[in-house]
Amino acid sequence: MYSQQMYALGSKRSIIREIFEYAKVRSAEIGADKVFDFSLGNPNVPAPEAVKETLLDLIQNTDPVVLHGYTSAQGDFGVRDTIAKSLNRRFGTQLTANHLYMTVGAAASISICCRALSCPGDEFITFAPYFTEYQVFVECNGASLKVVPAREPDFQIDFEAFKALINERTKAVIINSPNNPSGVVYSEATIVTLCDLLREKSAEYGHPIYLITDEPYREIVYDGVQVPFLINYYDNCLVCYSFSKALSLPGERIGYVAVSNKMQDGEAIYAAVCGAGRALGYVCAPSLFQFLVGRCADLTSDMSFYRTNRDLLYNGLTEMGYSCVKPDGAFYLFVKSPEKDANAFFERAKKYELLLVPGDDFGCPGYVRIAYCVKTSLIQNALPAFRALAQEYGLTK
Ligand code: PLP
Repeated sequence: MYSQQMYALGSKRSIIREIFEYAKVRSAEIGADKVFDFSLGNPNVPAPEAVKETLLDLIQNTDPVVLHGYTSAQGDFGVRDTIAKSLNRRFGTQLTANHLYMTVGAAASISICCRALSCPGDEFITFAPYFTEYQVFVECNGASLKVVPAREPDFQIDFEAFKALINERTKAVIINSPNNPSGVVYSEATIVTLCDLLREKSAEYGHPIYLITDEPYREIVYDGVQVPFLINYYDNCLVCYSFSKALSLPGERIGYVAVSNKMQDGEAIYAAVCGAGRALGYVCAPSLFQFLVGRCADLTSDMSFYRTNRDLLYNGLTEMGYSCVKPDGAFYLFVKSPEKDANAFFERAKKYELLLVPGDDFGCPGYVRIAYCVKTSLIQNALPAFRALAQEYGLTK
């Protein structure tokens, strides 16, 4: 016998992966230029030139035994120290190397936090629309996930719905801003209200409610929008970061957990994070890329590219009569389905070779996600198909 829970996870691909695989098959049939694949959040902007130069320098000028060797389980001290200093410079925090745990991307960071915090019977809460994998990360690490329904149309937090779900079993709350799939950045007012409420409920229930903030898109923002740095707003906070998106290194699997220096029982929580990393087999994140991000912690890829794509797609689709919130960050557009069932809309779009992702798996039926981290020409070529689809629904003005 084997784990039915793991079998269920492994034998069924996520809807996003299904669509991505379909795109490959369809491209082989009719040509890649005729398939408008907006399914996957795979950055299409190359990492900055400095990443290549640093890699070459590391390979040429570092002792290979060190470069390719095991680091400390929680990551190289010098790398953690550099990243802590970079965060302190940018956000005015007082983190040290001993608050950071290097991981293989944000997925591992969140899994580690869930494992580190959860005790039998615990509940975690997140807010729709949310990153589909949270369910897996929470449930496979010993807790259950409750989802606060989306607040439409702005996708900030519905606090009344949140208050109805929070209770003495709530161990942690997971937020993601800039958000996948909506592109929304939580306003400072939203963050302050959330943190005040978490403090109030922690006091009422007599135990901390932790805030896990999932921030792989932290630097992907437009028009000068600020993303509040949560450690400055809430002491019992764990930041999950990844260099996958803003530095365009998704395949290299590198990121970190930052445990707030003001965390209650912070040393014990950090030790639990280290323990979870150990239990999950995530010790010693890839050393070459630890050293790389240690040197490139302040860099990002060229964000102007995503902004061009956002404007082209958002302006184009809203002019055609589609409705969606204007994304302030990340590289997704979350469009309201012109018919109630977004899966039916998805099927109709598919006839025009438009591959979108229905919102159901993000906890938000009635919407589709469009990942615009694609070539600008793909968006330009897709607009007539979106227009024809809009006409089919009688949307066009
Ligand atoms: N969290 C969110 C909101 C994401 O969109 C993703 C990836 O798309 C992840 C976490 C996982 O990121 P990583 O590739 O760093 O594991």
